[in-house]
Parts: sequence; C-alpha cells; structure tokens
Amino acid sequence: MANQFQSLFELQKKKSLELRTEPIVNRRKRLKALKSWILNNKDKIRKALHSDLRKSETDTDITEIFTVTTEINDALSHLHQWARPQHVSPGLTYLGTSARIKPEPKGVCLIIAPWNFPFNLIGSPLVSCLAAGNTAILKPSEHTPATSELIKEMVADVFQPDEVAVVQGAVAETTDLLELPFDHIFFTGSTNVGKIIMGAAAKNLSSVTLELGGKSPVIIDETANADDAARKIVWGRFNNNGQTCIAPDYIFISEKVRDKFVASAKKYILQLFDSENKGMAQTDDYSRLVNVGHTNRLINMLEEAKKSGANVEFGGTYNVDDKFIEPTLLSNIDETNRIWKEEIFGPIVPMKTFEEITDVIDHINNNDKPLSLYLFTKSGKMKKRITQATSAGTMVINDVVVQYAHPNLPFGGVNQSGIGKSHGKFGFMEFSNQKSVLSQRIGLTNALLFYPPFNGFKKWVVSFMIKWF
Ligand code: NAD
Repeated sequence: MANQFQSLFELQKKKSLELRTEPIVNRRKRLKALKSWILNNKDKIRKALHSDLRKSETDTDITEIFTVTTEINDALSHLHQWARPQHVSPGLTYLGTSARIKPEPKGVCLIIAPWNFPFNLIGSPLVSCLAAGNTAILKPSEHTPATSELIKEMVADVFQPDEVAVVQGAVAETTDLLELPFDHIFFTGSTNVGKIIMGAAAKNLSSVTLELGGKSPVIIDETANADDAARKIVWGRFNNNGQTCIAPDYIFISEKVRDKFVASAKKYILQLFDSENKGMAQTDDYSRLVNVGHTNRLINMLEEAKKSGANVEFGGTYNVDDKFIEPTLLSNIDETNRIWKEEIFGPIVPMKTFEEITDVIDHINNNDKPLSLYLFTKSGKMKKRITQATSAGTMVINDVVVQYAHPNLPFGGVNQSGIGKSHGKFGFMEFSNQKSVLSQRIGLTNALLFYPPFNGFKKWVVSFMIKWF
C-alpha cells in the first residue's frame, strides 16, 4: 500500500531542490515571517499552553515563546556568517589547489516533538531547519492537542505546504512518516522511542539528531551553599511540574548540608510557587501533569518508594483527577526502586546522602550517560574532578537548567541521552551537510606524482612525504 504521506514528501523533495540555489535572504524572510506570527499570536500560544499543561502566561512567555524567538533572532543575526563557505589551507600536499567547506541544506527534514514544551520543541528545531535552507514536515505531540492544533494553524498561515507542513497523529502516523527517505530526522522524546526512530532512519540511512531523556543527577557537596542550591533546584525541578528533560532528577548530598538543604527547599517551594498562600493545589503558578496516565505512573513510583521505606521530607499528596502531585522530596531511597532507576519526569525528587565522592562518580559512570549533570560546590578541586571523571551532554556548576538557553553552547545528550547537538550555530550545522569543495588546477598538478609508473624520483618523494608531511 502506498505511503499516505508520499505525495507530501514528493512535493517537499521538489521544493528542497529549488531551495539549494535560492539566496540566503529568502531564508531570512521565512524566519522573519515566523517571528511576526509568533509575536502577533502570543495570546493564542498562552491559551493553548494553559489548556494543555495549565502553564502560567509568564512561564509560557519564558519557556515556549522566548526560547523560539531568541533562536530566530540569533539566526537572523548570524545566518550569513554560518552559511558562508569556509576556506581552508591546502597544506603542502595540496599546494596550487583551493578548498572550502560549504554548508549545504540537507533537503527534506522530519521534526518529531514531545509534549513537555510542545511549542518550543517544534519551534526551535524548525528555526535551525529553515536557517539551513531545508523543508520540514512537523509531527507535534498527540498529548497536547491545543498546542498541536495551533502549530498547524501557524504553519498554514506562514508557509506553503511544500516548505513546511504539519502531520498530526501518534504512533501509527509517525511510523508511516518514518518509512520515507528523509534527509534528516530531528527527534525529541524518550530514549526508548529514540531507539525506534534510529532503527527506522537506518533503513534509509537518514541522518538523525536525537534529543532524548534520562536521569540528570545533582551532586551537592559539603562546601556547597545549601540555601542557594535549594532555591535553584526547587525552581528547576518543580517548574513545568518536573516535566523538563534537563530537570534535576535525583540528588546526592553530603550529610553535612542535608538538613539545611531540606529546610530551605521547603521554604522556597512556598516562595516560588505559592507566594499568595492559596495552597499548592490552588496556586496559579504551579502547572499540571500532562494526563491521568502519566499522573498514575508517578503515583505508583511514589507509593513503591514509600513501601520500601522512603521518607517523605515534604509533599507527597496527590489528586489524580486534577493531574496534581505536590512538590515532593524523598529520602532513604531503596536503590532497587523505579524512582531511583527510571527517568521520573514529574514533581518528585529522591535524595541520598553520600560520604565518599568516588561512590557518586561510580554510580553516575555505571548508569546511562546523563543529559545534564549538576554540581553544587565551592571547591575548585571538586569542579575539576567531576568535570573530568564523568560524562554528560551538558554540565552546570552551581545552577540547574539555565544551560538550555545559552546562545553559544551546544545543547544535547550523549549516547543514551542523545546524539547530535542543537541550538544556534550547532542547530544550523545539524541541519546542514558540510560539503568539501576542492578546486584543482587544469594540467600540471601535484597529484601527477602519484600516478604510475613509479620511477626512483617518485619513490623518493613518497618516502619523504611519509616522513615529513
Ligand atoms: P515520546 O518518546 O513518548 O514521544 C515523542 C514523540 O514520538 C511524540 O511525537 C510521539 O507521537 C512519537 N512517538 C511515540 N511513540 C512512538 C513510536 N513507538 N514510534 C514512533 N513515534 C512515536 O516522549 P514524550 O513522552 O512525548 O516526552 C517525554 C520524553 O522526552 C522524556 O523522556 C524527556 O526527557 C524527553 N525530552 C527530551 C528533550 C531533550 O531536549 N533532550 C526535551 C524534551 C523532552
């Protein structure tokens, strides 16, 4: 049976060949049109996010709108520089030739997004994709229907279907899309689905960027400012109800600062999320879990941990119908519990005390490489040790989550937490093929030395080159 998306793919394929030769100014026009639509429709975006995740307006402005507009602004400022062919030295061997690296559009791209930042995680890769001169088929999440519908409206308003198109749907539709020979697939989502995407991409040898999940550890050592760490972790973990890929997932803390950390965390939960003292279930600043299934998954994890002897340091109440779980901190964790082994992706944080930092390093190195690793310390020695001894997609010292929007840092995981990098120039590169273009002289060239027959002089040149070049 013919693939239901074949004709859309063919349409974009044709367009992508035209885009190869168009001037950069056209890419800028598309980015500007996208930006205007976003700025003119901020209210619609806020309403959609409130409907899907009960996000507050300002939270949507920061984490869904700004994150996309800043990518657009960065691309508009630097696109000419990113896209410019880079001339490289010929070295001695290639004297007389000229060579450059030309970033060229990959072609037709597929962008698949999750539900946790549903506007940003379609919008940001789309900016890189368009900046690099590609066409795109977007597959937003089925779990955030209001935002996904709005994305469809935005794309219909701003682009022609041969430039950018939206496919709504879930596993069946994505599976069909994945049969097509995309030039690049940019996937954001869970590690397990990431493996399915990479398997499907392998059939067509489509290149992939996989922005995946996992458990991002936090280490708080005895020299750390526990109060400062508590405020930052409370924000990073409980904002968006813990449904942030780089949210601190679990904590290793020195016994010496543990009590101070717990007391401060309790204080900051109220200060940040319930400043009007309405109660966590009523406050407008605390969003909700995406659906009842996800809420039940988290409650099961919580109850399993409690049964195994975990202490609830604060929080622990929930209401399934309201998709609500109170910000919760657990201690005394049994390491066989799912909460210690699986990505939590909700407002619950397990915490363990440590005595020897080598135990913490061993734990991190014996598990999947994290998307992010967070370290709170004042010790220069500790900063150096953890940076060198562990691997992670991103690492932040004395803060959490803020690395995401840094204009000049690549964002992404490593192995199980992801493949490839995004944001700014790194996103542009991910959607571009770095084509080598070598220009040779006509007639006499150095390469003639390597043509047979090999006389004594040529042999001497080759052995000289092996030794010195
Ligand atoms: P998910 O993997 O379940 O779904 C992501 C997308 O894949 C959705 O569009 C979905 O329709 C599609 N999909 C789901 N199952 C599929 C299948 N079997 N075949 C083909 N397509 C399929 O992820 P989610 O639950 O929407 O999002 C949460 C996950 O995303 C977490 O693990 C989180 O850490 C991760 N995440 C990572 C980043 C990052 O930048 N690294 C950002 C946000 C979220």
